[in-house]
Amino acid sequence: MARYGPGLQHDIARAVVACTIGLRVLVASAKAFVWHTELMHRIAVGDFELSIFSDGTYPLDGGAFFGVVPKVMWSKKVAADERNYCTAGLNSLLIRTGRQTVLVETGMGNKLSERMRKFYSQPAQLLDNLAAGGVAPEDIDIVINSHLHFDHCGWNTVRDRNGNIVPTFPRAKYYAPRGEWQYARHPSERDSISFISENYDPLVESGQMTLLDGGEEIVPGISVRIFAGHTAHMMGIIVRSPSVAKAPGIANSGGTAEAVPFPIAGINTACYISDLIPTTAHIDVTWGMSFDLYPLQTIESKKEYYARAIPEKWITVFTHDPTIPWARVEKDDTGKMIAKEVA
Ligand SMILES: [Zn+2]
Repeated sequence: MARYGPGLQHDIARAVVACTIGLRVLVASAKAFVWHTELMHRIAVGDFELSIFSDGTYPLDGGAFFGVVPKVMWSKKVAADERNYCTAGLNSLLIRTGRQTVLVETGMGNKLSERMRKFYSQPAQLLDNLAAGGVAPEDIDIVINSHLHFDHCGWNTVRDRNGNIVPTFPRAKYYAPRGEWQYARHPSERDSISFISENYDPLVESGQMTLLDGGEEIVPGISVRIFAGHTAHMMGIIVRSPSVAKAPGIANSGGTAEAVPFPIAGINTACYISDLIPTTAHIDVTWGMSFDLYPLQTIESKKEYYARAIPEKWITVFTHDPTIPWARVEKDDTGKMIAKEVA
């Protein structure tokens, strides 16, 4: 379909996914290639269609990004500029189940204070990128936030002409973790800057946002689970299609080859693991971000996640990777964790 762009763009997108770590460093340092609206990523997972939409990229201090990992190690995987800033992505996941259109995470949005904009630049590209993919705000039935840090729920709301906060996705039911929302009302001094109440409080007050305890199935095939570490109540969003894709290039029941361009044989589960594994460079269990409030818990949660995701060949969606939004995590012959391309 025209809205997904010509086949050449898919080829380019796949080539980007397939690039090696060395090339990735090169790409990260060449700003023109960091991310492009037209490099759309789309796959079929069973009967569901999954697409990545970006809110753009933003600069993030390398030390904050990689915690206690020495720069001599992380700089082999990710480039940093002269100020030690790396490039972070803002990847949202759109799921079309056939019945609902579900948006996981809403990026940084357009309501940052002037001070925050100086640090994070506020790319604010999500709505434009959705529009380029043929998705209007009114098309979204469900919005799910893994947690409530400003770079994950920023487009939940916008200011209207009169300055009032209104939902960006007017028809959508919103979901977020209850414990995260309770914490966000009284955060610690350490991370209070990460919460912007206008992103969620008006939705909770109006009843448009439902708070979750973890473990719920929001619609058939889409469920949530708490993976603590980054925060105490951050959720992973697990997408498990009722049926498994049959073979590469063959559409599922009711679909057409064009509508389902990259079915992946035998895989029917994907997980938006959010800030537990923010990029492909954070796959190792000990490579956590210094933003994590509970770093030891991050390690335990990663182990729990891999215990299911690796043997069952889940597709992991990386919230902040600027070039590789999803991959399968595998162990190589030496036991080292690697990201394997999915398309
Ligand atoms: Zn976060």
